[in-house]
Amino acid sequence: MTNAVDCIVIGAGMAGISAAKQLGKKGLKVLLLEARDRIGGRINTIQPGPQGPPIELGAQWIHGLCPEHPMYTIIPENERRIDTQRINMFDKHGTLIPEHVVTSAWNAVDALSSRMTEHAKKTITLPPPKQSIAAFINEDLEWNSCASKTEHCTRETPCAECDVKYSLVKSIANIEAATLNELSVEEYAGDGFEGDDGVPLKGYLHVLNGLLADLKDATVLLNAQVLSVDYSGDTAVVNCTSGEFHARNIICTIPLGVLKETGGPEFIPQIPGPHQKAISNLGFGLLNKVVLEFESGFWPSNVDDFAFELRRDAFGLDPMFAFIVNFSQLYARRDEPQNTLVVYVAHDDAKWMEGLSDGDIRELILPQLTCAFRSETEPIVKSMVVTRWMADPFSRGSYSHLSTGSSLSDMDALATPISFGTEKKGTLVFAGEHTIRQHFATVHGAYLSGIRAAEQIA
Ligand SMILES: Cc1cc2nc3c(=O)[nH]c(=O)nc-3n(C[C@H](O)[C@H](O)[C@H](O)COP(=O)(O)OP(=O)(O)OC[C@H]3O[C@@H](n4cnc5c(N)ncnc54)[C@H](O)[C@@H]3O)c2cc1C
Repeated sequence: MTNAVDCIVIGAGMAGISAAKQLGKKGLKVLLLEARDRIGGRINTIQPGPQGPPIELGAQWIHGLCPEHPMYTIIPENERRIDTQRINMFDKHGTLIPEHVVTSAWNAVDALSSRMTEHAKKTITLPPPKQSIAAFINEDLEWNSCASKTEHCTRETPCAECDVKYSLVKSIANIEAATLNELSVEEYAGDGFEGDDGVPLKGYLHVLNGLLADLKDATVLLNAQVLSVDYSGDTAVVNCTSGEFHARNIICTIPLGVLKETGGPEFIPQIPGPHQKAISNLGFGLLNKVVLEFESGFWPSNVDDFAFELRRDAFGLDPMFAFIVNFSQLYARRDEPQNTLVVYVAHDDAKWMEGLSDGDIRELILPQLTCAFRSETEPIVKSMVVTRWMADPFSRGSYSHLSTGSSLSDMDALATPISFGTEKKGTLVFAGEHTIRQHFATVHGAYLSGIRAAEQIA
């Protein structure tokens, strides 16, 4: 392989691979440099055995599936499934909450979300600091009034229905992977795709491999961590753990978490101020998963998701909110044994959990599941996988969000191409989920950002 190409793409996740595919269509020769020993980045599908659904340690859902959505055409209809989102919710004592109470709490959260969207659209042009979701909720009269008008119902001593509502609103923090104090209301101003959420039945890695097979004139180099990018001349010089490479153009898809922590590779010269400011302003959160494979299932088999307030009495901490996904049901494998649950824990709780051993995590979760699902025998765990995306040096968290100190324009600033060389014919451009205002924090956002970056290369 020659060390000079038309474009070097840093990172072989969804953004990098979609950029490489688009560059190939333009007839450009591409080198993808990937720090890990695998492609995919925050797409990490494992297949525990020939039986059973694929397990997604990173991205799982296709958000907002509709005909305009890129995954609508990339993933054939018979290889995706819409999540029916049948949910059971348990209180902190492991008692099942009646369905009508959960439904009315969901409706209250949906109505709150609509009010936040309205507010965010009105204030979108104002500069940061923005109002946090926590502050919005505190001030929202409708949210803070008791729908059933129960006497003596207060925020501190809520009635049973309001208690569920206050618990369920934590799902926002779980989905956005950041606390409600950190999140800006502007999170709700985005105009992403409108549609149901689905899952790729063969796993996201299968989707990525399909794109990879289509690459023209591109080489992927694994175990190639980029250490520096010198774009002070007409041709950029990229130094990585596998050697030195040269290109007129660079697309950098390194995750925001890594850029925030270390500034990424050393850029010579430093990237412009607005890019640096955007990196510092934008938020990058944390979502972790605990995959538990059992000898056999002991939960209601026709339910997709469970919501829990997991007690942490032994650690002297308040309960933490967790979503638990019934994998076999979600992936419509009803004819196979239902034996896998995946627990989702986010933000500060996830950071705290990264400090626990796998054994401690199992001890924390298992007795509460056994109790809630009324299992008469001790469930036998066959295998367990715990993600620690914060500790991972090549992600440093899960995905980006709008913090109160940032705005959507930070994403535009970060995506602005930087020209270099005496005739300004070279281009350095950032891509990745954190650079696309309508679709940040998603796989399809990463995909679209890669195409956009490739189009910005001359
Ligand atoms: C737990 C979790 C759950 C998620 N759930 C969903 C979901 O349900 N639906 C959804 O749409 N999205 C979800 N996401 C977000 C989604 O995974 C990301 O938005 C998307 O995959 C990001 O793609 P990317 O190409 O921008 O970044 P990445 O996939 O992170 O790719 C960047 C690549 O750069 C590499 N890299 C880093 N540093 C260097 C370096 N110095 N040199 C060379 N290479 C480097 C990394 O190894 C990585 O492969 C989830 C993410 C996580 C972590």
